[in-house]
Amino acid sequence: MRDFSASGEWLSLNTATVREQWTLPEIIEACARHGIRAICPWRDQVANCGLPIAARLVREHALMLSGYCRGGLFTAHGSKGLKSALDDNYRAVDEACELGSPCLVLVVGGLPGALEGKLEHQDISAARTQVIEGIARLLEYSSACRMPLAIEPLHPMYAADRACINTLEQALDVCDQLNPDGADLGVAVDVYHLWWDPKLKSQIERAGRRRLLAFHICDWLAPTHDLLLDRGMMGDGVIEIRKIRGWMEEAGFSGFCEVEIFSSRNWWRRPGDEVLATCVERLRTSA
Ligand code: ZN
Repeated sequence: MRDFSASGEWLSLNTATVREQWTLPEIIEACARHGIRAICPWRDQVANCGLPIAARLVREHALMLSGYCRGGLFTAHGSKGLKSALDDNYRAVDEACELGSPCLVLVVGGLPGALEGKLEHQDISAARTQVIEGIARLLEYSSACRMPLAIEPLHPMYAADRACINTLEQALDVCDQLNPDGADLGVAVDVYHLWWDPKLKSQIERAGRRRLLAFHICDWLAPTHDLLLDRGMMGDGVIEIRKIRGWMEEAGFSGFCEVEIFSSRNWWRRPGDEVLATCVERLRTSA
């Protein structure tokens, strides 16, 4: 297992972590100041500064990407909704290619309409079928572009509105079904979503190097005050992050640890430089 105690060189910053403080160009400058070598940008942040500028800044700063957030949201009502979801995913693949990302992260969608407060139906198994069909269609395009897709299973508390793939086992079953021998489809393991799962260790082993495309870290605060925006800094919560990183590395993962913290009560209110310095420090001590 890699020793992180001396440096933060394997830190990647998911840019949502400081989205309230800075624009993407400002985040890129700040990463250079803090010696952070990789980022995972969000599509809205890229759109705000423009894709060509984002791509140029990444190149100029010799930044690497640990992923691109995000594609997915495949569930929709009617053929028109499905087509527009798919078209948007094709654009996300193109953007990921332009930025030099190693993968496109997929948050697959929940019950159609639930996120917008206009629930279309309650049939979660139908939603899951729609997700698998959507990934299958996208995979034809992304494989041709050589852009791997990383399914991110979300904690079951998001099954209704964000993602009806909720365990690593379920995500890997989809990978095995749609891409049995290839490396075009894998998973993003986020400790916040998966730390509680009794099968986590065995499913990380099952995934192996080929399927383990991204590793997201933060901490689960107890108590948690908000289901979406109260993620903790590594070391402030209950997750055995280093143990899980050990399982990842035993299975062959050797990439960046991507810090992804949505924190409206705490970290989004602090100066960005303090947040980045803390991320680097906690990677060394608590991850
Ligand atoms: Zn994540």
